[in-house]
Amino acid sequence: MLNILIFGPPGCGKGTQSEFLAIQYNLKHLSTGDIFRENIKNKTDLGIEAKTYIDQGQLVPDFITINMLGEKMQSKSDFNGFLFDGFPRTIKQAESLDDFLFKMNQEISMMICIEVPKEELVKRLLKRGKSSDRADDQNKEIILSRIKVYKEQTEILKEYYDQKNKFFNIDGMSTIDDVKQKIFSLINNHQK
Ligand code: ADP
Repeated sequence: MLNILIFGPPGCGKGTQSEFLAIQYNLKHLSTGDIFRENIKNKTDLGIEAKTYIDQGQLVPDFITINMLGEKMQSKSDFNGFLFDGFPRTIKQAESLDDFLFKMNQEISMMICIEVPKEELVKRLLKRGKSSDRADDQNKEIILSRIKVYKEQTEILKEYYDQKNKFFNIDGMSTIDDVKQKIFSLINNHQK
């Protein structure tokens, strides 16, 4: 089994690279951001609740996010593993993920972090905001608050996985194809 965690600040390219990874390695792609947006679109109770946090650039509370992810992990069918994108974002979430996987006799294989400097993140997100309907990408204050939350609550997870020798870092300041090749070779080397 290959359980990959793709990690990095908002705008680093996690979503883009996840699409390649899911196909290449036949992984079940679980993006908490996508799941929330789907719920917001369908006006479910979960979506209505999550929207208040997302619109302010804050994290959705752990208990909501963890329950939601736990449910989504139930149906794995014939995939080679999971690809977690946007989860975990707190230590509490990482511990819950370990528990979920442990109960399935599995574990995270690698955490791959895409590093991109703050100025570039803001630029990319504002650009994405112009062509998407994501309200959280259309306002510079909200973008800055998401980056701040990442720095304060999420980035510490690099250490969490480093202590387990699962942390891998790559430079996200190159072309999409370049980043993709770097990630593929990291995974291929790991699998040897
Ligand atoms: P980005 O990485 O560009 O911020 P995402 O689509 O991953 O975009 O997430 C969008 C928003 O959804 C986040 O700003 C946050 O409010 C919420 N969210 C997504 N994943 C989580 C999570 N694991 N825990 C709490 N909130 C989350």
